[in-house]
Amino acid sequence: MLKVEPVAASRSEQAALTRRTRLVGNAPDYPGRVVMAREQWRLLKPSKWLKTLRGKLADSCSGLERCMYCEDSRADEIEHRRPKKLYPDDAFSWANWLYACGECNGVHVKGDRFAVIIQNRCVEVSRSDGGPVAPPQAGLDALLDLRGEDPMDFIWLNLESGYFTPDCDDRQSERYLRAEWTITHLCLNSRSRLIRARRNAYVMFSTLLRDYVEQRSAVTDAQVAQRKRTEISRVLKEASHRTVWEEMKRQRAMHQELQALFAAAPETLDW
Ligand SMILES: [Zn+2]
Repeated sequence: MLKVEPVAASRSEQAALTRRTRLVGNAPDYPGRVVMAREQWRLLKPSKWLKTLRGKLADSCSGLERCMYCEDSRADEIEHRRPKKLYPDDAFSWANWLYACGECNGVHVKGDRFAVIIQNRCVEVSRSDGGPVAPPQAGLDALLDLRGEDPMDFIWLNLESGYFTPDCDDRQSERYLRAEWTITHLCLNSRSRLIRARRNAYVMFSTLLRDYVEQRSAVTDAQVAQRKRTEISRVLKEASHRTVWEEMKRQRAMHQELQALFAAAPETLDW
């Protein structure tokens, strides 16, 4: 997962969101706000402001509109980082919106589950159907906020195995707990397809980087070589699992060949 680059809603888009937030806030109590948020969401009709916001989220995805969580499937659903069922006041908060695939946004992965960190413990605040409708316990959100935080500050990818781990040794720390919850909650290590895809991406990115460096020093037609380099750059930027590429850059000092390749073509560090 990568941090989502900041993107602002326009004044009219923000006004449309604020209108609905106000409607939710006008409900007399918390259960009323939960119902109102659900209703307002259900009543949302395709409109220009919603379409442009969807477009902004899609443009913020890595690769070719890849899901902000798994980076594997196409993102096509607005996902509330803080579930609207638990945090109705954030249902129409632009900063709370991400773009995810149906699988990640669905009940078998993220769904409406959520947790907060209280006194160095991860406390699940999810609400079962039919349970009392009360506000969740207050605490630090366990799930990382891709709109405001860089997951690479919390999570490390083992390039060879394809598994994510918390980038922290202190198992009691907020940093560790949040990283662990995020990895587990989003099933980033329990979907074997994703692990294989990350390993494949490592092979593919390494091969492309090697090709690029070879093209760079090849004694051939300059225009042809330039065209090939541009093509490799485009394929790399549009590929799925861009976190693998970012980790290759970050971890290059630990891998002799990567170190040599990036040193031979330092411009690729900006890709
Ligand atoms: Zn996904």
